[in-house]
Amino acid sequence: MNRITTNKVAQLVDQEIEINGWIHTRRDHGKITFFDLRDRWGLLQVVASDDTQGRVKDLRPEWVVKIKGKIVARPEKLINHNIPSGTVELQAIEVEVLNEAKTPPFEIDKDTSGVEEEVRLKYRYLDLRSERLTRNITLRSQFVQKARQFLFERNFSEIETPLLTKSTAEGSRDFVVPSRLQPGKFYALPQSPQQYKQLLMVAGLDRYFQIARAVRDEDLRADRGFEHTQIDIEMSFVKQEDILALIEAMMISVVESMGYTIKEKPFPRFTYAQAMEKFGDDKFDLRSEEDKKNGVLAYAWVIDFPFFEKTDDGGWTFTHNPFSQPLPAFLDDLKAGRNVENILTSQYDLICNGYEAGGGSIRAHDPEVLKSTYKVMGYNEQEIEDSVGHMLEAFSYGAPPHGGIALGVERNVMNLTGESYLREVQAFPMTSSGRTAIMDAPGELSTKLLKELGINTNKKGK
Ligand code: ASP
Repeated sequence: MNRITTNKVAQLVDQEIEINGWIHTRRDHGKITFFDLRDRWGLLQVVASDDTQGRVKDLRPEWVVKIKGKIVARPEKLINHNIPSGTVELQAIEVEVLNEAKTPPFEIDKDTSGVEEEVRLKYRYLDLRSERLTRNITLRSQFVQKARQFLFERNFSEIETPLLTKSTAEGSRDFVVPSRLQPGKFYALPQSPQQYKQLLMVAGLDRYFQIARAVRDEDLRADRGFEHTQIDIEMSFVKQEDILALIEAMMISVVESMGYTIKEKPFPRFTYAQAMEKFGDDKFDLRSEEDKKNGVLAYAWVIDFPFFEKTDDGGWTFTHNPFSQPLPAFLDDLKAGRNVENILTSQYDLICNGYEAGGGSIRAHDPEVLKSTYKVMGYNEQEIEDSVGHMLEAFSYGAPPHGGIALGVERNVMNLTGESYLREVQAFPMTSSGRTAIMDAPGELSTKLLKELGINTNKKGK
C-alpha cells in the first residue's frame, strides 16, 4: 500500500489524493472551514466548503478521518514556513469519519510539559500524539537505528541475553520474579547483560551488541527510572584504546549524521583525578552558554577511576564494575589485597553535557584476578563461589582478553533533544512514585496465582 502522508504532499500539487489522520484543530470561516489534519509526520491544512461531502460540520479535534481531495499550491503570501506541507493545502472533496473521539483531558496541540504528570501518563497515548513527544520518540528510534547500522557494518552480531536470570549481590537492588516450578525461589531481572556478554566472549562470539533493557530497583530521579535501555557492547582481543576509538567513531558518525555539532574532536580525555580537581565532579559539562543555546554536544572521556570505595561498615566495594581489570601497575596490589584505596581500574566513562552517556571497562579474564577483587570486597571462598563461581569456571576454559561498554539510550537521547527528564524520551515511562503508565501496575495478584507461586503476602508491607 502506498499511503500518502503529510510529509509527501508538497510534491503532489494538482493531484487528487486520499489521506488519513486526526483532526488537529478546526477554524470556521462561515461557508469555509479550515482543519489541520495531523499524522505522525506533521500537519496539513485542509479546506472544506459547502461542496465537500461528509460530516464536515460535526468534525471535532482528535476525530480520525479519511479525506479525499485535491492538493493545491498556496499563494506565495499564504505559505506556512513552519510546516513541511506549508506550500500546499488540501481542498476536501469528501470526508469520511473513521472514528470519533472524546474531548482529550489536556490539549494535545500545545506543549504538554506543564500538564500534571499523573494525567499525562494515564493518557500517555494522547500525550505521545503531541508534537514534542512524537519527535522525541522518533528521534530515539533514529539514534538506535544508526548505532545498530554502524555496529553491523563492523561485523558485530546482535545477540539477546535472558530476562529471567540470577540475583547477584552487587550494584543496585534487583527486581525479582517468583518461580512457580520451584516455589520459594526467585529469578531476578537483569541490571545489565554484563555477565552474559562476557560469557559470549568466552564462547568466541567476538563482537557482540544488544539494545538491552536493564532493570534496577533504585530511587527514581529525573534522569533515572526502574527501566532503561542500553546499547550494550563487548569485544574480544581489544585494549582500552580500541574500545574508546570505536565508540568515539560511532558517536561522531551517529550524531553528526543526525545534524548535530560536536564541540571537540577527538573527545578530550581526563583522568578521574584530573576531573575531580578541575570540575569537582566526574560528570561535568564542557559547554559554554552559547553552546547550550545551539544544542552543541560536548563529549569527553574520563579514565583511570579508583577501583574501590569504602563501605559504611569500613570494608571495600567496587566503584563501577567488579568484573573490571585493574590498570597493569596495580595488578600485584590487587592480588595481594594491599594499597586498596589507590588501585586504579581500566574503567572509562563517556560524558556528554553533564551526563554519563556510557561506561565500560577492560575485564578481568584471568579467574585469579576476578577472585582477588571479591577477596578485597571481603568475600570468603564460599561466598565467591556462590556469587561468581560460574564466571570463574567459564574463565578457566580459555577466556579471551575482552572489554566493552554500555551507552544509556535515554541519557543520550535527552542530550539530543535537550530534555531534562527521562520520561520525555521513553514511550511508556513510570510515574515518579513507580506506577506504570496507563496500566496501573504494580497490582495485586489473584489468590489462586499467589498459591501457585507459594507466596503469602502481607499487604501492609511489613
Ligand atoms: N554493565 C555495565 C553497566 O551496565 C557497563 C559495562 O561495563 O559494559 O553499567
